[in-house]
Amino acid sequence: MSPPPLRRLRTDILILGSGGAGLFAALHAHQAAPELSITVAVKGLLGKCGCTRMVQGGYNVALAEGDSVERHFMDTIEGGKWLSDQDLAWTLVTTAVERIHELENELGCFFDRNPDGTVHQKAFAGQTFDRTVHKGDLTGIEIINRLAEQVWSRGIERLEEHRAIELVRTADGSALAGVLMIDMRDGGFVFVEAGAVLLGTGGGPTMYKFHTPSGDKSCDGMAMALRAGLALRDMEMVQFHPTGLLAGAGTRMTGTVLEEGLRGAGGHLLNGAMERFMGRYDAKLERATRDIVSRSIYSEMRAGRTSPNGGVYISMAHLGPAQVARQFKGMVERCEDCGFDLAGGLVEVVPTAHYMMGGVVFRPDCTTALPGLFAAGEDTGGVHGANRLGGNGVANSTVFGGIAGDSMAAWLRRHPEQRVADEAAIRDSIARHEAPFAKPAGDLEPIREALFDCMWEDVGVLRDADGLRRALARLEALDGRLQQVGVADDDRAFNLTWHDWLNLNSLIAVSRVIATAALAREDSRGAHFREDFPQTDDLASSSYIVVRQGADGVALTREPVRFTRVAPGQTLLETV
Ligand SMILES: Cc1cc2nc3c(=O)[nH]c(=O)nc-3n(C[C@H](O)[C@H](O)[C@H](O)COP(=O)(O)OP(=O)(O)OC[C@H]3O[C@@H](n4cnc5c(N)ncnc54)[C@H](O)[C@@H]3O)c2cc1C
Repeated sequence: MSPPPLRRLRTDILILGSGGAGLFAALHAHQAAPELSITVAVKGLLGKCGCTRMVQGGYNVALAEGDSVERHFMDTIEGGKWLSDQDLAWTLVTTAVERIHELENELGCFFDRNPDGTVHQKAFAGQTFDRTVHKGDLTGIEIINRLAEQVWSRGIERLEEHRAIELVRTADGSALAGVLMIDMRDGGFVFVEAGAVLLGTGGGPTMYKFHTPSGDKSCDGMAMALRAGLALRDMEMVQFHPTGLLAGAGTRMTGTVLEEGLRGAGGHLLNGAMERFMGRYDAKLERATRDIVSRSIYSEMRAGRTSPNGGVYISMAHLGPAQVARQFKGMVERCEDCGFDLAGGLVEVVPTAHYMMGGVVFRPDCTTALPGLFAAGEDTGGVHGANRLGGNGVANSTVFGGIAGDSMAAWLRRHPEQRVADEAAIRDSIARHEAPFAKPAGDLEPIREALFDCMWEDVGVLRDADGLRRALARLEALDGRLQQVGVADDDRAFNLTWHDWLNLNSLIAVSRVIATAALAREDSRGAHFREDFPQTDDLASSSYIVVRQGADGVALTREPVRFTRVAPGQTLLETV
């Protein structure tokens, strides 16, 4: 069957991804310049995919009396172990205030309230003030539903089930000309020429055996950025959430997050011998930060003190099953769907890869090193440093998504000229993406399983040089295997095997970068723990790791952190 011919479209602003970053960018661009054509291209269906929809806990913002943006900033910088770009972090905490008012007053989100009518803000780990705005434990659905309605009502174009595969430059390489995609519905290639493009595909560490992000995420944006020669930073920083549901093999529910509030409310973690083990690792017991609890659980697992499926248990029953069912309705129902009694029994849990702090190097106005390309949300690096506070993820995507929309509109006023794409680059990319159809068909499942195991065992919660070197060799071999495996069915329409192949291609490329950066960072901080270098180096001389894909592999440099607002040992808070 011959594939559909290459289609060509043109738009002023092209937005890749429809999470918090993508949808906010679309709305702001439309508000700033209603005369511009705006197109949102997304791998899934607009409003139904990505991780913003999955946000449970909530949104960090300094609103309440007694809190301040300075306090939110200090929590963010200290949580990030002083690796963050401070101008990005400052933009996050200050613009979050404006963004939450926009969400409530302009977009119509309802968040939980106190009896006096003020917005309820709950506690989240690692913060010195209760500042997490939420709607029960289903905050993301409220945000994405309202954003999607607003986008639908404004005549913004949609390319749903369109997978971006290549950032295409002009022939002289000086700027971005557009994006090549696959229309997943018929499998044809589509080139979208655009004046400005937002990379908002949301990262997503789905290369780990246990992971939380939505299935549509496979680090495509980061892989495209690497191929386009862009720099990525902090890629060694992968956050594990300590309590992913362990529902056994054969269910996609395994890895799904059981929220932090369970431990915050007094839940106990028990190993396979029914011992409450956290006392062995941290005085704060189950209320220690995510990284510490993840490492503690992993250590119990490695020592063989596991539950039947190889994890540990979370137990809430001592708090009273009726109370637990009231307080954590969503969690209790989700566990019940999988056959577990969270309120009154034991539920097996395991650390699960949750969030990538690293990503494309970008500036506070969301510009990147490639003129015409903007970036926002989980595809970017630098906001969170070595660790992200729970609640700062959705703030990050909505804050910078909105800024990107404003910036793209302003940029197009200054650069209205059309840019012509490098046709040879389009042809090359199509040939590379079609290559699997010309190869002998094979089974992708063993490659996926091997990738899961490699990243979990050697680039996971606890790392050392031997494991990371082993991982790099395993990843090289896996890449070689993948490049030999073909896709049997040449019918391109909704060809899920082809898309699985492409997912693995992106994931292996980004995994190699994570392992390279993790081997290079010879100290432990935040989410990155080296058993052979357990110390944290001097904070005042901190540097961050920048990677680029070169012709001969991954090139790596170190850049000193610029403490533009506060240096280690100082604070922005008034001290009495
Ligand atoms: C279970 C869970 C719970 C969470 N809870 C919280 C919380 O309580 N508080 C918090 O602050 N953060 C939380 N987070 C993190 C938060 O969801 C993310 O940080 C944030 O929402 C990411 O927004 P984004 O717009 O960058 O990406 P996403 O919302 O993930 O959107 C990415 C979009 O890109 C699309 N896409 C992907 N690849 C392509 C491609 N090749 N071409 C076109 N489109 C593509 C996807 O389909 C999707 O539409 C949670 C995450 C998970 C997984």
